[in-house]
Amino acid sequence: MTARTGIGMDAHRLEDGVPMWCAGLYFPDEPSGLEGHSDGDVAAHAACDALLSAAGLGDLGSNFGTADPEWAGASGVAFLREVALRVRGAGFEIGNVAVQVVGNRPRIGARRAEAEEVLSAAVGAPVTVSATTTDGLGFTGNGHGVAAIATALVLEASG
Ligand code: MG
Repeated sequence: MTARTGIGMDAHRLEDGVPMWCAGLYFPDEPSGLEGHSDGDVAAHAACDALLSAAGLGDLGSNFGTADPEWAGASGVAFLREVALRVRGAGFEIGNVAVQVVGNRPRIGARRAEAEEVLSAAVGAPVTVSATTTDGLGFTGNGHGVAAIATALVLEASG
């Protein structure tokens, strides 16, 4: 087996009145959510890009164009499930995915285990979730948005 790593990142704008979905979870007490073509789940989207990157399959944009009505409003978890299918379809096993959410909100820490369970089920391999703030700096620190970064490991059957 040959191991290959991938990297992905995502960011979405925080908008008042938008439901907050992040790391596969709904946060009902959040007054604002992540605006986007889909549910704006930065953690799920970064995980998708890391998996696609590791498998050499491009990125979310090249796989699911924003013009494609089939994926408009799709949940991040639905994207993740489909990406895992495509990665396996290209001949890879998925080792693991690590995602870090960057921002002040939502508070991922209290629901980390739940997020890891939901995302791992979507991928069919371990997904770990961590979170950090940026000491008030930048768009993730001033409350304008939330970002996420992810890495993935896939295993390619070698001849
Ligand atoms: Mg996104």
